[in-house]
Amino acid sequence: MSEPRKGQRRCVKCERNRAERFFAPRGKTCADCRKQSRSKTTHDRRVQVTYGLGPGEYEELFNAQGRVCAICGQTRRTRLDVDHDHITGLVRGLCCRLCNRKLLPAARNSPTVLRSAAGYLEDPPALKFLGPRYHIENREE
Ligand SMILES: [Zn+2]
Ligand SMILES: [Zn+2]
Repeated sequence: MSEPRKGQRRCVKCERNRAERFFAPRGKTCADCRKQSRSKTTHDRRVQVTYGLGPGEYEELFNAQGRVCAICGQTRRTRLDVDHDHITGLVRGLCCRLCNRKLLPAARNSPTVLRSAAGYLEDPPALKFLGPRYHIENREE
């Protein structure tokens, strides 16, 4: 790692050499790192208030899940949602937006519906009763 040039400082967090303007007058961390840790703290506080998680528990759960959506296993750029049962309030886990806001509501939060959907895809009735038929939407590309 090279020494900071004149007019630069090294951020103690990301260890990049950055121009003075990214630092508070006597600051040791750059503006981006300060923003990131601030939003992390805000988020941590918000999930504590909303879902009753303890400090740092979101991160612990996130790590325990392998840092991926508990349903589809995808990593996304945005933070995972805290999924909970809307009736009992039970916190179930961390899911991506697509799974939490589309998949689960569409399946009415029902394990039976989701199992049925898996079976449907693996053994489609039309294939069984009509034989292979193919339809692809007309795409203009
Ligand atoms: Zn930094
Ligand atoms: Zn997902």
